[in-house]
Amino acid sequence: MLPFIDLQPVTQLVAGAARAAWDGVLERCEFVGGAGVQQLERTIAAYCGAPHAVACASGTDALVLALQAAGVTPGMHVALPNLTFWATFEAVAQLGAIPVLIDISPDDLQLDLDELRRAHETYRFGHAIVVHLYGWASNALRALRTFCREHEVCLIEDAAQAAGVELDGAPLLADAAVATLSFYPAKVIGGCMDGGAVMTGDAALAQRVRSLGNHGRATHYSYHHVGWSSRMAGLQAHYLLAVMQHADQIVADRRRLVAAYRAQLGGLAATLHGPGPGITENGYLLVLACDAPAEPIAAAFRARGIAVARTYPETIDAQAPARGRFVAVSALARSRAHVERVLNLPLYYGLPAHDLAAIVSAAREIVV
Ligand SMILES: *Cc1c(COP(=O)(O)O)cnc(C)c1O
Repeated sequence: MLPFIDLQPVTQLVAGAARAAWDGVLERCEFVGGAGVQQLERTIAAYCGAPHAVACASGTDALVLALQAAGVTPGMHVALPNLTFWATFEAVAQLGAIPVLIDISPDDLQLDLDELRRAHETYRFGHAIVVHLYGWASNALRALRTFCREHEVCLIEDAAQAAGVELDGAPLLADAAVATLSFYPAKVIGGCMDGGAVMTGDAALAQRVRSLGNHGRATHYSYHHVGWSSRMAGLQAHYLLAVMQHADQIVADRRRLVAAYRAQLGGLAATLHGPGPGITENGYLLVLACDAPAEPIAAAFRARGIAVARTYPETIDAQAPARGRFVAVSALARSRAHVERVLNLPLYYGLPAHDLAAIVSAAREIVV
C-alpha cells in the first residue's frame, strides 16, 4: 500500500541533530521546559512573524489556553467553522462555552465571513475561532480580522494546519491577534510527540497563557488562576528545533509536490481546491471535491493499493457529542455537502516521484 503519509523522510533529515541535542538534554536533565523550550519559542515566534510564542503540550491545549486567556468563560458564545478538526469544537466545549457553528464559503472552503456577520448580529459573541484549513486560508481573512477588531471580537486563528502559509509574501500569522499551532507529528512542522504553541502580539495575554499552562502560577507556590499542566518537554523542543532548521526545505518540497499534482490532475471529474490570490499554501493537503460521492472513489484508490484520506468525512454538527451543544444561523448546508465529496491524495515531505506518478495515473482512471 502506498501510504497517505510517511514521517520517515523528515525524521531522517533531523535524526542526527536531534540525537546530539538529546544527549545534552539527558546530561542536564532538561526534561520539562528549559533553555530548549525558550529557544523554540523564539524560533517559532520569528517564523510566524509574531512578537510572542508560548509552547504547550498540544494544539488542543493551545486553543483552550488561548480561549481562556482571552476571557472565555462558561455560557459564552464562541463562533467556529463547521468544517474543522474536532479539537476546535472540543476546546470551546471544554470551557463550557457554546459553539456558534458557521458554514464554509464555497470558493475557499474556509469560514464564511457573511455568515459570521449574521451570526454576530444574533449572538453578539466576543470570541471567534477561524481555522486555516487544508494548508491555506480564507480569501476574506483581512476583512474578517477587520470585522472582528471593529466589533471587539477576539479572533483566535487555529493555524494547526497552516505553519509556513504566506499572505502577500509575509507569514500568514504576522497580523493575527492570537493564533495557535499544533506540533502533532503529522503536521507540516511536526514534533516527535504532542506539542503546541500560542502566538500573540499581546504581551499580557502571552503571560496569561504561560501561567494558565503552568498551574496558573504566580510564583512556584502561589497562583493567579486555576490553570492546569500543559508544558512542553525538552526532548520535544530540541527535536522541533532540529525540524525548524529544515522548515523552509520541508515547506518548499510540499509546495513542489502540490504544484506537480496540480499540473497533472486537470480534467478530472472533481474540483481541485486551493488558495486564492495572495495566499501561498504550505502543501499540507491536496483537496479534491469529487463530482460524485467520494467514499466509493476512496475505496477504489485503496483497492489499487493507494491510501487516500477524507479530511473530513463528517462535519462538526454531525458528531454525536455535538448534538444539542451548539447553535447556528443556517442549516450549514455547504459544509455538509462538501464532506460527502472531499478526497485527499497522499502528500508529505519526501513523497517519491514514482509514487506521485502512480497516484496521478490511478486518479486519471478512477476520478472520471
Ligand atoms: C491537529 C489540529 C488540532 C489539534 O492539535 P493536537 O496537537 O492534535 O491537539 C486543532 N485544530 C486543527 C485544525 C488541527 O488540524
